[in-house]
Amino acid sequence: MEQFDALVIGGGLVGSAVAFGLTESGMRVLILDEGDVTLRASRGNFGLVWTQSKGVGAPHYHRWARKSARQWPTLAARLSELTGIDVGLEQPGGLHFCLSEGELSDRAEMMARLKREAGDFGFDYRMLTHQEAAEMVPGLGKQVVGASWTPYDGHVGPLPTLRAFHQAIQQGGGIYRPGSSVQDIDAAPHDFRIRLAGGALVQAPRLILAAGLGNIPLLPKLGLNCHIGPQRGQILVTERVSRLLSMPTLNVRQTAEGSIMIGDSKEEAVFDSLTQKPDVMRTMAERAVACFPWLAELQIVRAWAAVRILPVDGLPIYDQSAQYPGAFAFSCHSGVGLAAAHALLLAPMVRNGELSGECSQLSSRRFDHV
Ligand SMILES: Cc1cc2nc3c(=O)[nH]c(=O)nc-3n(C[C@H](O)[C@H](O)[C@H](O)COP(=O)(O)OP(=O)(O)OC[C@H]3O[C@@H](n4cnc5c(N)ncnc54)[C@H](O)[C@@H]3O)c2cc1C
Repeated sequence: MEQFDALVIGGGLVGSAVAFGLTESGMRVLILDEGDVTLRASRGNFGLVWTQSKGVGAPHYHRWARKSARQWPTLAARLSELTGIDVGLEQPGGLHFCLSEGELSDRAEMMARLKREAGDFGFDYRMLTHQEAAEMVPGLGKQVVGASWTPYDGHVGPLPTLRAFHQAIQQGGGIYRPGSSVQDIDAAPHDFRIRLAGGALVQAPRLILAAGLGNIPLLPKLGLNCHIGPQRGQILVTERVSRLLSMPTLNVRQTAEGSIMIGDSKEEAVFDSLTQKPDVMRTMAERAVACFPWLAELQIVRAWAAVRILPVDGLPIYDQSAQYPGAFAFSCHSGVGLAAAHALLLAPMVRNGELSGECSQLSSRRFDHV
């Protein structure tokens, strides 16, 4: 029987970030990943490292998202040092555009609330007029009435990040094993065994369930309830152009390679990343062109749909099983933005066997009284 310090089920951004953090602390990790056949949010997302609007009414989540944004430069530098991969992190601040006076006043109210709730942690932001926003980004459309801005926001390449995680884990003695679909877990406190296709058995005292929507059938095996579901989103990508946008916005960003990505759709709860909806794409494109009319001149070269892992209240879920200590289950939206917290803050908690600070406030126990 092959033995490891930790088994991680799921090799998307969440499982890989945690596995990377564990590898950095000297643990030998095996990632079991179903592979390129399933719903994988980590390969179809928009790439924002975003904090504005995170955690309204939940200041612990806002702090967690901000801590992650703060840790991102350390993570990017470490991944680059280990693997030579530049993950394309930029954190010049970010803009959220409002296309009507109503949107702008709702946004101003929400940002003021975030600041109030942040207390001593602080929350630096500005509400901008059209003119002020136009001075930050070129060719802003007349329909943009105003915007909110924070200095904390940014973006990164999700695919280079995932690749860098996998490479760094393997360089650190860990194993990434794609094509390994876990159907069953033999669980006892601090003793987890998984039989792989072909019959081989792997064992570790720690288990991390990070299979995205694949967590749904596996959570009950660890004595945990499920509080997540799917939400589809679509992305449009233009041809590459010279650098036009100096900072990301919620719905339009320019990648390090020069493509413009457009994506802010939130659609029905379906486990389906194959169907693309032209009417949704049209709405996304129209809103993007309203923000930046020059976008209308660019060719769309790619488009896809992907499915978010959405906890019922939108906040991440970090659990350690009470029935089987040593087993952890993590499910979240915003796994790009949170990757630095997962690698550098959450993984040490897994290693130490206890979820503390904001993570203990983000356990699924919060749903017990609902
Ligand atoms: C359209 C869209 C836009 C988004 N934009 C952003 C953004 O701008 N910023 C941001 O921070 N977040 C964004 N997200 C969210 C982010 O992509 C996710 O939070 C993150 O990718 C979740 O990672 P994950 O590892 O939990 O899940 P996944 O990426 O789904 O990975 C789960 C992995 O587990 C594997 N798996 C499943 N079941 C099993 C099993 N039984 N055995 C073994 N392996 C299994 C799968 O093969 C998969 O590789 C977006 C998501 C979508 C869909």
